[in-house]
Amino acid sequence: MRSTFLPFSAPTIEDAEINEVVDSLRSGWITTGPKVKRFEEAFKAYVGAPFALSLTSATAGQHLSMPVLGIGEGDEVITTPMTFASTVNTIAIAGATPVMADIEAGTLNIDPEQVRRKITSRTKAIIPVHFAGQSCDMDRIFALAREYDLTVIEDAAHAAGTEYKGKRIGSLDSVSIFSFHPNKNMTTGEGGMFCTSDETIAEEVALLRFHGHSREAWKRFPVNSSQDYDILMPGFKYNMMDIQAAIGIHQLAKLDGFIEKRTELAEFYNRELADVAELALPQYAPYEQRHAWHLYTPLVRIEKLGINRMQFMEELKKQNIGSGLHYRAIHQHPYYRSLLNVPDQELPVASYASERIVSLPLFPRMTLDDARDVVEAIKTVIAANRR
Ligand SMILES: *Cc1c(COP(=O)(O)O)cnc(C)c1O
Repeated sequence: MRSTFLPFSAPTIEDAEINEVVDSLRSGWITTGPKVKRFEEAFKAYVGAPFALSLTSATAGQHLSMPVLGIGEGDEVITTPMTFASTVNTIAIAGATPVMADIEAGTLNIDPEQVRRKITSRTKAIIPVHFAGQSCDMDRIFALAREYDLTVIEDAAHAAGTEYKGKRIGSLDSVSIFSFHPNKNMTTGEGGMFCTSDETIAEEVALLRFHGHSREAWKRFPVNSSQDYDILMPGFKYNMMDIQAAIGIHQLAKLDGFIEKRTELAEFYNRELADVAELALPQYAPYEQRHAWHLYTPLVRIEKLGINRMQFMEELKKQNIGSGLHYRAIHQHPYYRSLLNVPDQELPVASYASERIVSLPLFPRMTLDDARDVVEAIKTVIAANRR
């Protein structure tokens, strides 16, 4: 057994990030300024998005996406139950109704056929989540969107660096929202990025993220040096700080290296756990893509064990191995159970995964020896609890 605890995730913060933050602090310019601009330009170039707007979080971007795309009272938005709460919370906060479409068993991504089943005359948008860093089948989702005149909002929180058929997530003809929370593939402490190909949408996000302040309105009101300004709409306070962007600039430069390391570890798990009958391993989608391996999420076949998933995670912890839960399905949370009242039988694949999913340790600073410890601990726990 390992002598030290291995967490399920940890950011890689090195001298470059630290020195850049110190530079911001010493410069006297700590909030939104030149480094935010640099970070946005670099992110835009990396993903290939025509417009990239930094924010305090992905949740902020999801919140803004609703009014900007005209989604509100009386509208329905179709998304996956296998996601973080904010994907669905921000639909509910806008006064719209979240509608759950079931997922595919192998990838745990939203199933386009199930999306089709849920479309009604009230449906306004689809929010696919690129689960664990693997792209959803966007051609099929865009085809549905065209057929029924729906907006697509990609939850790209796991998908910095993900590619779909040779294109980076962020460059597709939609809105996509990235997260830079410390557990994500790259971090700014907290932070998010809103990418779009639509200039009108971009400008409205720019206004809404900073009080509706006229200096953000690059089309209608040219920037001038005056201290005076107009408020053009009631906005929020969702602007990223230079201190955050200072971290992000260096994280972005390392992102491809981070993904290579994550891929190496994920493929090690794939090989070393292939013969463990008590686990169902994550599957690659059949189309061309680059998986960013944000998470490694096998399902524990609890019917073969005398313990449930939470107990499995506790047993791993006793072996000094951390793990995460991404996610308990949305329709099973108390608020959404009473709001939506969707029985498990309506969402069989997500409900099955919800009881069994576990996130194994996966982060760039991990070594193959660490991963070997995880595999050994899993085999020990399973051997001790097999039915
Ligand atoms: C992390 C996450 C979010 C929210 O990101 P924040 O930056 O923490 O607001 C949204 N959706 C998914 C799928 C996530 O994993």
